[in-house]
Amino acid sequence: MVLVEQHKPQTTIVVANEPSEQAEEAACILQDYIEKISDARVEIKKESEDVSGNTILVGHSQMVKDSSIEVPSGVTFQLNEEGFVIKTVGNSLILAGNEDGEYRGTVYAVYTFLEELGCRWFFPGEFGEVIPEMDTISINAMDRTERPSFRIRNIWYSGWAPTTDQDHQDFRLWRDCNKLNTLSLSIPGDGSIRRLVPSEEYFESSPHLFAINKDGDRRSDMLCLSEPETVNISVKTIKDTFRDNPDTLSFGFAPPDGFPMCYCQRCQDSIPEFNHKGYGDPSLSDLWFRFANCIAQEVYKEFPDRWVLTNGYANRVRLPEGIAEFSPNLGIQSAIIAACTLHPVGDKKCWQRTLYKQLLDRWTDTLNCVFVYDYDPGNSLVNLPFPAIHNLKHDMPYFRSRGTWGFWTEGTNSWMVTHLNYYVRAKLMWDAEADVEALVRDYCQKFYADAADMVEEYIWTLESAVEQTASHQTWGRLMQWRTIFPPVQQKLDYLMSQAEDSVQDSCSRQRVQVLRLVHNHMKAYVRMEQFAAQGQFQVGLEWADKMLAIRDEVNIIKSGLLPHTPEWAHDFRTTLEWHKEIYQDLADKAGGQEGELLTLLPRQWEFKLDPKDVGVIYQWYLVGRGEDWATIDTTLNWEGQGYQDQQGWGFWGKAWYRTGFHVPADIEEGKSIWLTIGAVYNRGVWVWFNGMMQQFEKDRHWRLGHHDVRTPIHIDVTDWARSGEINHVAVLVNTTPPDRNPRGGIHRRSFLWTPR
Ligand SMILES: [Zn+2]
Ligand SMILES: [Zn+2]
Repeated sequence: MVLVEQHKPQTTIVVANEPSEQAEEAACILQDYIEKISDARVEIKKESEDVSGNTILVGHSQMVKDSSIEVPSGVTFQLNEEGFVIKTVGNSLILAGNEDGEYRGTVYAVYTFLEELGCRWFFPGEFGEVIPEMDTISINAMDRTERPSFRIRNIWYSGWAPTTDQDHQDFRLWRDCNKLNTLSLSIPGDGSIRRLVPSEEYFESSPHLFAINKDGDRRSDMLCLSEPETVNISVKTIKDTFRDNPDTLSFGFAPPDGFPMCYCQRCQDSIPEFNHKGYGDPSLSDLWFRFANCIAQEVYKEFPDRWVLTNGYANRVRLPEGIAEFSPNLGIQSAIIAACTLHPVGDKKCWQRTLYKQLLDRWTDTLNCVFVYDYDPGNSLVNLPFPAIHNLKHDMPYFRSRGTWGFWTEGTNSWMVTHLNYYVRAKLMWDAEADVEALVRDYCQKFYADAADMVEEYIWTLESAVEQTASHQTWGRLMQWRTIFPPVQQKLDYLMSQAEDSVQDSCSRQRVQVLRLVHNHMKAYVRMEQFAAQGQFQVGLEWADKMLAIRDEVNIIKSGLLPHTPEWAHDFRTTLEWHKEIYQDLADKAGGQEGELLTLLPRQWEFKLDPKDVGVIYQWYLVGRGEDWATIDTTLNWEGQGYQDQQGWGFWGKAWYRTGFHVPADIEEGKSIWLTIGAVYNRGVWVWFNGMMQQFEKDRHWRLGHHDVRTPIHIDVTDWARSGEINHVAVLVNTTPPDRNPRGGIHRRSFLWTPR
């Protein structure tokens, strides 16, 4: 069937006499893209108009009905009616899909057909669009009915990268092109519990409905979960909402972010205190899901075809114990944040992912509606690449096999950090069995033309380096690029320069240039960390500035590829600005404005585990005490140096670091002497200097990986330092199990200095 011949239209787009808005929109999209491809502007006509020759029937119409093609339609609370058909009948091509509710089936049919012609939307905006140029467009017979593998298919911008109005608009279009949806679900977002028992209405008059915090005060943002009246009011709120809004298919609620809890005696008595692996706090699951289930059961009596949704996040990732029956209308957004994002679900070398599988298997065995909240990028905020295709390829069929409803993915507008993840995600959300290698190859060929082979190998090299790493990490934590990247750097350098040498056309050249800048950005980061490990903090800072300059360069090409950190997030852990602040502090003291460097402490220290907690008694802080000390690099966490088992469980408990170093003889009389320990990632830290305990912190705020576990420790050792001699430092650290992201020990260079 010929649609365009030598830039001349050979077909007509036909819609119903009274087309739906969506059909009209879809017809225009088709018309525009056919013109972009072939310069031919195909006419759009209504079916009652005089139409001859080939036709493309867009959306529902009498003509489609007459051809007895079944087009998906209808919408129920099961939300499993989405779909579309692409079919040739006689001299007509039918592009139509389910338009009921919020379904975008007809638009999807058009975009999918355009993909058949070679169009792609790899990234939002013009930058990511590939449109083939054709003199003639002709198609063979087609007969496809498509339905998605997952009902919910969302990626949203969480705000960790700056996003302009244009970026939002481009993203909306990209989402349509790649068949994402939101279906107006009432998402159980953090803090949405406020909707159940509004505090404006009840807090003053009925404080007993609300949770008690640790200090014994009532808090208005959380409810008392064992108070029967709280349940009754919650049920009423949801029923009223459903009565007033017949089209509303779900009501979601979740407690505030963090570790919500009610400390009233009754609530505390009903918490069995099972750890839930991730934070070390007792789990709220048992109490929370009992509460949610009671509400769902009551609502079910009147509304068996609406969902009561809550989330399984933070201290509620585990299934509750002791609930015999779950209400059929209870659904969960499973948001297991304490799960390594580098490895696939069920990966045996990654305890976090095997645990994840165990949790999700049970949820999906138990509830009728389970969907997944995940994180992409799932690494730190320093905007380094997050290769996740190797995981998506494995995980999406798994999620499909478990009958999950889909995804609510927390993303950012940083498309060279996530690179092809969102595109591959979108494709797999629609078809979990899609061929991922083929998708990547197609991307490389269409986007990089002559450089395709090099870029393809570049992508998989980086993917496999991450897949194979034995280091683990979760969202918001620093990925160990300093150890993952160097072994593959030479190969990637080579591929990158080969790619640059092979591109011919200016369009592909610019795309390769973006990759080059992202590559250099990564190298600059690794250089920054390497110089800092050598104690050359000032040089490290210069590499940080180079990273910022590279971001400027990329931003000139397009925003949202390799963005700067938004202003409000500068202080947040793991951003480049945060790195700079730390290195500036160290550079100032180690020979900068603030102090003079007396000596760098060695990078390698003695190291000894103390699982039985006897080191203090045997005075392991003294030279020569204790046997079998190992050697460890104090600029990398101990997990990366063999102190973790085959499943990736890092050592936890107490461990000792010890070293000796020469203190110069010529320190001016009266000058104070300071010891700076670069960073210690542990809950407790005790420091001895020349056999005398100097300073300790028993319970550092470590669980969320916040500042104090990453920032340097500065100690005045003037009274204990001996100039002209070998001095000794010992550091005892304590880790309580199991952190969601094992990172034990001293991991930044230490030194001795004197203030100017
Ligand atoms: Zn309570
Ligand atoms: Zn892992």
